Amino acid sequence: MRIFTAALATETNTFSPICIDRRGFEESLYAPPGMHPATPTLCTAPITVGRKVAAEKGWTLIEGTAAWADPAGLVNRQAYESLRDEILDQLRSALPVDGVVLGLHGAMVADGYEDPEGDFLTRVRDIVGPGVLLCAELDPHSHLTAKRVAAADFFVVFKEFPHTDFVDRAEDLWRIAVDTLEGRITPVMSVFDCRMIDVFPTSREPMRSFVDKLMTVEATDPDVLSLSVIHGFMAGDVPEMGAKTIAITNGVPEKGARLARELGLELFARRGTFRSPEIDEKQAVALAMAASKGPVVIADMWDNPGGGTAGDATVVLGELIARGATNVAVGTIWDPVAVQICMAAGEGAEIALRFGAKSAPGTGNPIDARVKIVRLVPAAEMRFGESFAVFGPAAHIHFDGIDVILNTVRVQSYDPSLFTAMGIDPTARHILVVKSTNHFYAAFSQIAAEVLYCSAGTPYPSNPAVTPYRRARRDIWPMIDNPHGSEAA
Ligand SMILES: [Zn+2]
Repeated sequence: MRIFTAALATETNTFSPICIDRRGFEESLYAPPGMHPATPTLCTAPITVGRKVAAEKGWTLIEGTAAWADPAGLVNRQAYESLRDEILDQLRSALPVDGVVLGLHGAMVADGYEDPEGDFLTRVRDIVGPGVLLCAELDPHSHLTAKRVAAADFFVVFKEFPHTDFVDRAEDLWRIAVDTLEGRITPVMSVFDCRMIDVFPTSREPMRSFVDKLMTVEATDPDVLSLSVIHGFMAGDVPEMGAKTIAITNGVPEKGARLARELGLELFARRGTFRSPEIDEKQAVALAMAASKGPVVIADMWDNPGGGTAGDATVVLGELIARGATNVAVGTIWDPVAVQICMAAGEGAEIALRFGAKSAPGTGNPIDARVKIVRLVPAAEMRFGESFAVFGPAAHIHFDGIDVILNTVRVQSYDPSLFTAMGIDPTARHILVVKSTNHFYAAFSQIAAEVLYCSAGTPYPSNPAVTPYRRARRDIWPMIDNPHGSEAA
């Protein structure tokens, strides 16, 4: 067997001011054929798992380019087209192939392309023809368009949010691909449109039990090859935005459609119950200051660069300053210009500095302070599970009992080591402010006396009922109350 694999992925927050060109991919991950590292990244596990499968089977794996850009705003048209065409040319050179196994994200939006993955998959299908297996792994924060479903044989989606299972799901993808190519199964994909948009953390109920149930059905029903939930991505203003359920069965489409529908309506019945409780910056700062024990972690949950925002909002910091809070550390505020000024001034210097809130409306006001530059790190990084995430060049500044880390590389706050990397002991601070929706929780909950989820300002379109969408459909919950009518609970 000859299998072609490649990856092309990013998550586009169409409301974000941070546009992405080819450099955005090259700075995050750009691996030409054969150059992908041995360890997988979020959307490239089909390549690393594929290497293992091909070696075991004695098959030929032809690797195309792998490209990933960290979540941000609209992708530059030439950047998308050049990466797409690079991979398509590699595929043409690899022909004939028996299968194509891709790592996508599924929430890219490029200038001139509302559905880049649909465009890409359709072109792949046109090149290989109807008889060749075509499948992909997706992030649940994506848009499952009709064009994608028509082009591909099947999709497998990460089940967990935080996405701890991207390698496990790549293994599922390959297992189904191998069984299909060896003639043991005939995968058929059924999709149900839940006609809703929501946020579904699996670290809490009710989504935890729902995902456990999906895995139980997969393990016990011999007709079922895979079950997935597309959560949807509410910051992507595209026509087919919304939650969908996917059932892949072994040649029983009626059963698959029934199962996808039952699961989808079950999710719909629990609409509005999935999200963590959120408080505003006034409540969060008051609670944190009143807490007898620290550190209290305030998650500035919607100014999360991992969801494509700039990560430079100052709403929480502004409230801390207004209330006179001290023994506070903020990690991080994205401000490359301020970092440059600090670098030029040097460690130990005291300067008047304006920083933060420069990129988008709804993120507070720039902070003006006389600051001491405590530490400068040219290439700062923090731990992220088994790997590292870079956030420097970075500057640790101090004023009025508050430490702030200014960074140059936009990244969410994954781990307390972001503070220690800049010379701050996070366990000795009463209040820590981080920029992350939910990924921070695994590591910060280990040191936190308390965690507060804070919705501050409007850096992210987190309330779809009022988001000024121009392209997304309006006939889904919560824009309307019950799009399913009497068939829904
Ligand atoms: Zn995601």
